[in-house]
Amino acid sequence: MKPAPFDYVRPDRLADAVAALAAPESKVMAGGQSLVPLLSMRLASPSLVVDINGLPGLDAITVTSGGVQVGALARHTAVLESPEVARVQPLVPMALAHVAHATVRNRGTTVGSLVHADSAAEMPVVLSLLGGSIEVSGPAGRRTIAASELFVGPLESSVAPDEIALSAFFPALPPGAGVAFDEIARRHGDYALVGAAALVEGERIRVGYLSVSDVPTVVDLTGVPAADRAEAALEQLDPTGDIHATAAYRRTLVRVLTDRVVAAATANAQGGTP
Ligand code: FAD
Repeated sequence: MKPAPFDYVRPDRLADAVAALAAPESKVMAGGQSLVPLLSMRLASPSLVVDINGLPGLDAITVTSGGVQVGALARHTAVLESPEVARVQPLVPMALAHVAHATVRNRGTTVGSLVHADSAAEMPVVLSLLGGSIEVSGPAGRRTIAASELFVGPLESSVAPDEIALSAFFPALPPGAGVAFDEIARRHGDYALVGAAALVEGERIRVGYLSVSDVPTVVDLTGVPAADRAEAALEQLDPTGDIHATAAYRRTLVRVLTDRVVAAATANAQGGTP
C-alpha cells in the first residue's frame, strides 16, 4: 500500500525540529523502520513527518563507568557492535542481538524503539529492568523520563507528540552482578512470542518480560525458592493469547524462560562470561 499524502521536513537544528512538531498531526521519524510500515499500511497518517536525521550530534554513544548513553540517531547495529557498551552493560547487546535482522538494525534506532513502546520489543524491557531513562526536548525545555514512567500502554509512551527524545541512558552493570537475556521466536529476528531478561545482584533477583502484557513488566523474585520462581512470576504476569500464541503456551514459555535467564544471570554473576 502507499501512505496517505503528508508533508515532510528535515530540519538541521533541534529548535526548528521542535517548532515543526507544533503542527497538529505531526510525527517524528528516526530510522523509519516502524513508522514507514505504519504509514504504508495507513495505520498512521500524519499530516507532517519531521525527519530528525539532519540533527547533529544525536548519533553519539557515550560510555562512562556509570552507564551507557545512546543518542537518538545511534543505530541498533552501532550499539550492538560497541565493545565499550558490552563491557559496561552487557545486557544491551545481549538483547539487541534479538532485535530484527541486520538490515533493520542498520537503520533502526535504539531510542526509536523505546519511544515506539512495542511490548514485544526487546529494548523497552531492558531499560525497565535496569532502571534507565530517556531525555526528551520539547517546547517547555528538556526533561528526563524514568523507564517506570515511560511505557504507558500498547505502542504508547509518555513522550508527548511535540517532544523529541534525544538519548537513552542504560545504567552500568553493578560490580558482581550478572545479567542474561533469552526469548522464544518462530525464527531468529522475528518478534518474540515471549522474552525475558534477568538481573541478579547478590540475593536480589529481578526478571523483566516482553510479549506477555501491554507494557514491559519487571517482577522481583528475591527470596523466592528456585522451584517456585516461575509460578511466582506468573502470578504477577497473567499472559494473554493472540494470533501468535495462546495464553497457555505463553505461560509455558514464561516458566521455561524464567528458569533459564535466572540460571544464566546467576552463572554470569559468579564469574562466567556474560
Ligand atoms: P521510527 O520508525 O522512525 O519511529 C517509530 C516511532 O517512534 C514513531 O512513532 C516515531 O515518531 C517515534 N520516534 C522515533 N524516534 C523518536 C525520537 N527520537 N523522538 C520522538 N519520537 C521518536 N524491533 C524490535 O524491538 N524487535 C524486533 O524483533 C523487531 N523486528 C522488526 C522486524 C522488521 C521486519 C521491522 C521492519 C522492524 C522490526 N523492529 C523490531 C522494529 C525496529 O527495531 C525499529 O527500528 C524500532 O522499533 C523503531 O526505531 P526507528 O528508529 O526505526 O523508529
